[in-house]
Formats: sequence, structure tokens, C-alpha cells
Amino acid sequence: MVAGRQLIDFSSNDYLGLAHHPRVIAAMQDCAARCGAGSGASHLVTGHGSEHARLEEELAQFTGRSRALLFSTGYMANLAAIATLAARGEHVLLDRLSHASLIDGALLSGARLRRYPHCDTRALERALLEGGNCAVIATDGVFSMDGDRAPLEELVRLARAHEAWLLVDDAHGLGVLGATGRGSLELAGLGLEDVPVLVGTLGKAFGSFGAFIAGADDLIELMIQRSRTYRYTTALPQPVAAATRQALQIAREEPWRRERVLALSGRFRAGATAADLPLARSSTPIQPVILGSSRAALLVQEQLLEAGFWVIAIRSPTVPRGSERVRITLSAEHTEAQVDALVEHLEGACARARKAVPILEGEADG
Ligand SMILES: *Cc1c(COP(=O)(O)O)cnc(C)c1O
Repeated sequence: MVAGRQLIDFSSNDYLGLAHHPRVIAAMQDCAARCGAGSGASHLVTGHGSEHARLEEELAQFTGRSRALLFSTGYMANLAAIATLAARGEHVLLDRLSHASLIDGALLSGARLRRYPHCDTRALERALLEGGNCAVIATDGVFSMDGDRAPLEELVRLARAHEAWLLVDDAHGLGVLGATGRGSLELAGLGLEDVPVLVGTLGKAFGSFGAFIAGADDLIELMIQRSRTYRYTTALPQPVAAATRQALQIAREEPWRRERVLALSGRFRAGATAADLPLARSSTPIQPVILGSSRAALLVQEQLLEAGFWVIAIRSPTVPRGSERVRITLSAEHTEAQVDALVEHLEGACARARKAVPILEGEADG
């Protein structure tokens, strides 16, 4: 319900439909009744409770890593990871379409930030060969505004050859991709020895809130000792951790959720392709429709809202100028009929926006 109107939400990152799951809600309520609403202090003072500890163990097990460390948000986890692993005098290399928190982590580290063209590992290799000590190469696993996947195998090779830490922020892959939902790394068949630093968020596929870094014992110990966004902030509430534990369990018990969200994403793509809509190259539940200007994107947003769909225009500077878009995200909770209806309305809305605003041809590949 938005301002008294019922809308179908095609903009949230609740990919598995767990944010409103009765068991997740009940876990949060029960824990709040036992432990209270807030944790009262930072993890290293007295804020760390048994729900945090259990969730960390379960996340380590889920990701197949020795240890996981909870953070209040993915933004803070990325600040922590990069600022801890890189320092002044070194370089941090990021994909040009990396999430803002990776960029800010690099800035906070004091290292020199260099950005390579999107998924262009040749350009990355050239940048590495130009010299300078590269401390960290960081990338989204699935790019948040485009839905495409990073060329992980190639990044692993380059990070290894240049002795840099490789960080993969799998905010949109975890829970969704891979044979058992372990994300982009599982899909690519990569492990701890390939990608030493894995960042995951819990506010997306897991439907709750928070984030973690998973890796070897030494890495996690370093984070505990050195990262300011871990040490100097209140621990996330235990009821949030309890809700996440339940969500993680449901995600494991019910593989149909990720199969369904991927099937619905495929259905959306097939429909949108038949309707000749300008899609990006994405095989994930993030499906942008590239409109090429803020005005066109807003026009489409308005018309969809009118038709009962909650779809948000993504404009510059969140995406590069000329690639403004509406970003559709799918959830296991959607029905086939809702997806088909969205495609139908998108087709009309895009045609009208095209007429009203000239489109920059050639931007449709994102
Ligand atoms: C959402 C997102 C984050 C931030 O996570 P929060 O827990 O919402 O702070 C980090 N990286 C990527 C790629 C994201 O999409």
C-alpha cells in the first residue's frame, strides 16, 4: 500500500520473498521478547549476543569459509574491508560500475583509487602493469543497477598474478545464484583460495538487515582489530540477527524460491524481448530497461504507477548519463500473471516515452 493505493512492487531486493515470511517475523518477535529491541553497545563492549554468534557461525558454514563477521550494513562492511586492506601509497582498483560503498571504502583507505571500464579485464590488466602496488581489486558479484555478473575467473587470475586482495561484494548474488544459493562464487565454482574476501548483505535475498565479511581466520581477526565501522558502532539488534537466521534456514529448505525468482526473471526477459524492449544483458532478477534519459525514465515510472506497478526510475548520477533506466527487480512472490501484465504495460509506456523523448540509440546495451 502506498498512499492508500495497492501497488505491485517490482523495485525491492526481497528476491526470495522472505521479508514478510511468518517464520521470519515470528523469529524477530520472539527474540525481541527475550533480548529486547536493541543491543545497547558495540560488539566489543557488551553488544554481542548469542544470536549474533550463532548467525556468524551459520554464515561461515553457508559460505564455506572459516569465519564470518557481522556488520550493521553492507555499506559499513565495504568501508571496513577496503580501508583495512589498503593504505596510502597503494592502489585500489574498482570496476567503474561498482557500488558506492566500495568507492567510499577506497577513498577512506587513503590509497589511490583507479576505476577500470565495466567488466573490462584487459583494461584492468593494463592498469596493473602500469605499476603501483595494487592492494585490493574489488567488484560487485552482480552489478546492482545492471544485473550483469563480474568476470570473476579472470579477476581471480589477475589478483593472484599481482598479489592483490580480491574482494567480491555479492549483495545481489547470495541466496539467489548457484546450485545451493551460495551466490556468484558458487556459480563460478570459486572458493576461499580464489576470492579471499567475500562481502554479503542480509537486507536483500535474506529479507532482513545487516551484512557480513566472510574469509579466513586471519582476515576476520584483522577486521575485528582494525575496522572502525565494526568497532565504533552499536551492534545490530539481536532480533534482526534472529530473523536472518530463520531466513537463512528457509532459503536452504526451500530451493524453489530461488528457482522461481530466476524462472520469473527469464519469463520477464522473454516477454520484454518479444515486445522489443531495450533490456540489458542480465540473467539475474535485476532487469533494467534502458531509456536513455531521465525524462523518459520518469515518464515510464509515472505511467506504470498509474497502472498499479511500483517501478522506480534510476537516473544519473546513480547510473551514467545516457543510460537512465527503470530497474525492474523480481521476487519469488510475484505471479506469472503479474509479470506478464508488467511487460504489457511497459511496452505501452516505453512506446509513449519514446515518442515524447528522443532516445539515444546505442545505449541499450547498458
Ligand atoms: C545494497 C548494496 C550494498 C549495501 O548494503 P546495505 O546493507 O544496504 O548497506 C553494498 N553493495 C552492493 C552491491 C549493494 O547492492
